[in-house]
Amino acid sequence: MISFEQARHLIERNIPRLRKKTVKIQHALGFVLAENVRAPIDLPVADNSAMDGFVLRSAETRHARSGKPVSFRIRGDIKAGDKQNRRVKKHEACRIMTGAFIPKGADTVIPKEEAIVKGDSLVIDQCIPAGRHIRYQGEEIARGRKVLDKGSLIHPATVGVLAMLGKDQVTVFDRPKVSLITTGNELVKPGSSLRPGQIYDSNSWMIQSALENMGIPPLRVSRVKDSRGKLGSAADTALKQSDILILMGGVSVGKYDYVKDILKEAGVRKVFWKVSQKPGKPLYFGRKGQTIVFGLPGNPASVFTCFYEYVFPALRRMSGFRGSYPHRELARIRTAVKPDQKKTLFLKAKITINGKGKTVIPLGRQSSHMISSLQDANCFIAIPPSRRTVRKGQRVRVDLLPARNGDL
Ligand code: AMP
Ligand code: MG
Repeated sequence: MISFEQARHLIERNIPRLRKKTVKIQHALGFVLAENVRAPIDLPVADNSAMDGFVLRSAETRHARSGKPVSFRIRGDIKAGDKQNRRVKKHEACRIMTGAFIPKGADTVIPKEEAIVKGDSLVIDQCIPAGRHIRYQGEEIARGRKVLDKGSLIHPATVGVLAMLGKDQVTVFDRPKVSLITTGNELVKPGSSLRPGQIYDSNSWMIQSALENMGIPPLRVSRVKDSRGKLGSAADTALKQSDILILMGGVSVGKYDYVKDILKEAGVRKVFWKVSQKPGKPLYFGRKGQTIVFGLPGNPASVFTCFYEYVFPALRRMSGFRGSYPHRELARIRTAVKPDQKKTLFLKAKITINGKGKTVIPLGRQSSHMISSLQDANCFIAIPPSRRTVRKGQRVRVDLLPARNGDL
């Protein structure tokens, strides 16, 4: 049986090739950039005023003193959007608005709040240096410079930067196409009444939501019985359409656990089955061409844990993200825990970060069929088999769940 680290490594090595596509910037949010973005223009595009005020030639204020002021004729207004074809003449000033381009000849701005205006003249009683309140062409970004890096997430400010550069579209990594299959004769949809032997299907709803949370709604969600035929045809269809197929349930050693068999028949090559971990030991991972396949053991806590420890990082990679996931922390545990000599333990937990540092508490109801305590969880405590003891107050590794899952 392989370890958690080996499993992660094998998945990483089998991440399919990424596809690119071009999207309009209004649809780019949440995608990852598949190109370095260079500035096609200077920013600012031209020297312009940072204030509402007056613009003039600073050299003409050289001899101005409080007892010996210099007057400038105020000649016209320069608004944001006006062409830069005006020239400020000798002993003249223009009214200028924020964002308006600096006219030829002028080189300094006096804010309205500091200006002394008498009739149609501006009175200057001190020497004004050149360059005050001017935003210079190219001072933020010079034309040709790299502004955004391939591999970075497009968030609202990124969209703003793209628009500022005049770009209405951008190349991103396409999101992976995901299909979900849940299997089990016992499963019924929430909302219907339970007959003897039945339970509600929670996994497919939970993982569908987890995918939607990532901005990757699944292509299809199939709910099938433990029947080779039905499972086989659902898997065949999903394999044709998807970059990643996630099956839930039916991957263990039970007589009716058909997932591994039908995947083999469908031409999927097994990369591994079983990881020394709890929950989620019978985790399956395989590959067919450019499609990867996860078989998650059906217990709901196993599904949730395996999704965030294995599937989520794979999906992030497949979406073009570069950084590793989940984010890890070290925190002091608030109760003792008994490590397992053979398995990595994942405990549903809540981490708190405050002035005293980081502490983490394992939550109740840890068994693999229980998920109710996940409502309050924002992380897993991961305890490797190499760990001999975990005493109260000792540091433990914590894998953070994505922010929207908790209040961290
Ligand atoms: P399996 O992996 O199919 O052996 O299932 C392991 C356990 O998880 C069994 O107790 C199943 O009833 C339960 N289970 C499987 N699939 C689901 C599901 N979609 N929702 C809730 N429980 C499930
Ligand atoms: Mg089953």
